[in-house]
This record gives sequence, C-alpha cells and structure tokens, in this order.
Amino acid sequence: MKNLMNVVMKKEAKKGAVYSQKEVPAPRSDEVLVKIHATSICGTDAHIYQWDEWSQGRIKPPYVMGHEFAGEVIEVGDKVKSIQAGDIISAETHIVCEVCEFCKTGQAHICKDTKILGVDTDGTYAEYVVIPEANAWVNPKGVDPAYLAIQEPLGNAMHTVMAGPIVGKTIAVVGCGPIGIMAIAVAKAVGASKVIAVEVNEYRLNLAKKLGADIAINPMHEDPIETILQATGGLGVDVVAEMSGNARAIDQALKYIKLGGRMSMLGIPNDKVAIDVANDIVFKGITMQGIAGRKMYDTWYQVKGLIESGNLNLEDLVTHRLPMDEFEKGFDLMESGNCGKVVLYPDMEILEQTR
Ligand SMILES: [Zn+2]
Ligand SMILES: [Zn+2]
Repeated sequence: MKNLMNVVMKKEAKKGAVYSQKEVPAPRSDEVLVKIHATSICGTDAHIYQWDEWSQGRIKPPYVMGHEFAGEVIEVGDKVKSIQAGDIISAETHIVCEVCEFCKTGQAHICKDTKILGVDTDGTYAEYVVIPEANAWVNPKGVDPAYLAIQEPLGNAMHTVMAGPIVGKTIAVVGCGPIGIMAIAVAKAVGASKVIAVEVNEYRLNLAKKLGADIAINPMHEDPIETILQATGGLGVDVVAEMSGNARAIDQALKYIKLGGRMSMLGIPNDKVAIDVANDIVFKGITMQGIAGRKMYDTWYQVKGLIESGNLNLEDLVTHRLPMDEFEKGFDLMESGNCGKVVLYPDMEILEQTR
C-alpha cells in the first residue's frame, strides 16, 4: 500500500479547506484501517468550512475534515475481535469514554467526554481513515456506498422523529436541509398521518415534496401558523421536528404545536432564543426535548431496519456525487442550499461504478 494519501484538510483558522496529502495512518491495536468508498458532506463540515463562530471555538487546524462515510476495512489492530479485513463499514462518529455515568447507563450519546470523528480527530475526506473498533458499524455488502455513508445523519433524523409517539400523528419538520428531508422520509415511512415541511429555500421545499411531504410551506410566502392550524382542524400538529435553529421559526412552531404536543429539537440556533415559556410551554403542556446524536446503538438498528424495509426513498436524498477533489463545489452547493446530500468519492473508479 502507498504511504501518502489525498485528503481535504482544514489547514488554517480561516474560511475554506485545501486538497493536500498526508501519510496513511496505521491502526492501533483497538482500531481498524478503512479505505473510504464514499463520504458525505455534513452541515457540521459546512460550518467548519465557512469558519463560523462555533468552529472558531472548537476546531484546531490543521486536521482532515469529514465524518460520514462507508468504506472497506483493509487492516485491523491485533486486539480487534468483531471486524475483519474486507468488511464494509460505516461508523458512529461519537467516540465515547465508556466509563462515565452516561455511558454506563445506556446514554452514551450524551457521554460527557465525547470526541467526534472529523471534528476532534482526523476524518474521512481522505483515501483512508482509522476508526476505533467500538465505533465501526458493519454494513451489508453490495449496497451503494453513498446510501451507507448517509446512515449517520439519517440516524439524527430517525432519533428526532422517533423520540416520542409518531404513528398516526401529524408532524411539522421545520428546516428541510439534508437532515430535515430525511426526517420527512422517515416520518412517512413509519406511518405519520400528515407530514408538513416548513422551509424557505424552494429547491429544498421541492425535495421535501418529492420525499413525501403532504404540505410544503415557504414561510417567506405564507404564514405557517395560519396554514398549519387550518390543515389540522385548528388544533395544530402533534409533533414538531425542529431542524432550522431559527429563532423566528421556533417561536412560530410553538404557536402551531398542539396542546400536549412534542417538540424535538436538533437544529442549532447561533444565539439565545426568546420564547414565551408561560403561554407556549407551561399552559400548553408541551414537551420540549433536545436531540443529541444517535442512541448508541438503538438508532443504528432502527436505521438498518428501515433501510431493509425498502420503505425509505434513499435515491432522492442523495442529489450530488462528486470526485473528492471537487469538494469546493460541494461546499458551494451546501451554502446555496440547492442540494440534498452531497457525496464525495476519493476513488474515481468507485464513483464511475455508481454513475
Ligand atoms: Zn454528520
Ligand atoms: Zn462516557
């Protein structure tokens, strides 16, 4: 095997990233070395690329970006038991301590010492990456690697939608970026009665419809409160999946959520949000809950099962496939909002096979 590999690096503490080379990493005794087949761009990566306030406080360049992937195991450390060379894996990207109170009580997704692949460690916009055995998720063979790569964000969507009763319920998905459109697909697949998409970008609103949204609302053009109350007999929706992180959208959602409803929040506001706690939470008796990552590993089994059911429209979730050296194009797409999932390929041959 060669010594050097191509990577997309966050080299400096400023906007952008560079195509560069780095030594192929060697797995430690509890790690596996993976050849990346496909790696998708996450909203987190887009924030890091743009070098927003959050990234400035969290990211320490230089390092290799990326965390959503599928690839083939090339080599395993001598203590690795459950993974073999040749396995096709993806990974849970939260690398947890396994010994804190949360890890020990089945809540590893909120481990107090979480490290994130491709945020705190070298990531997957590379030809090869090393992953702890504990984080590897073995995939079935013969599946499009793009679909396998997006299981991680699909897990976020799944965790959000399934964080309370959903069968036969009405749900509004607020913010239809990649995870929002996935939430729509999941809600439809698991039997929500009516799925309402709220999104300001027309491309994404159309994507939301394609993935099964029954009603699509652009709040720039119509009042979501009025439209949603009308569509729900004046009562509002049972569930809000908050993916926008937008203060105004959150406030509006609190007006069109049903009494006793559930608001599951995944979107990340960039500042404090003012809400009417008395009228919109206490007197309405609603539940607001934060959604962090994916349950380890309940959510992964749910995602696997849902993909296997064939009820999920994966094809329309992936809108762009690019060679890894065209990563700038991918980030421009993410910035414009005119995309679903964008998938990068370090190996042109693998990209050609799926085209
Ligand atoms: Zn991600
Ligand atoms: Zn822990």
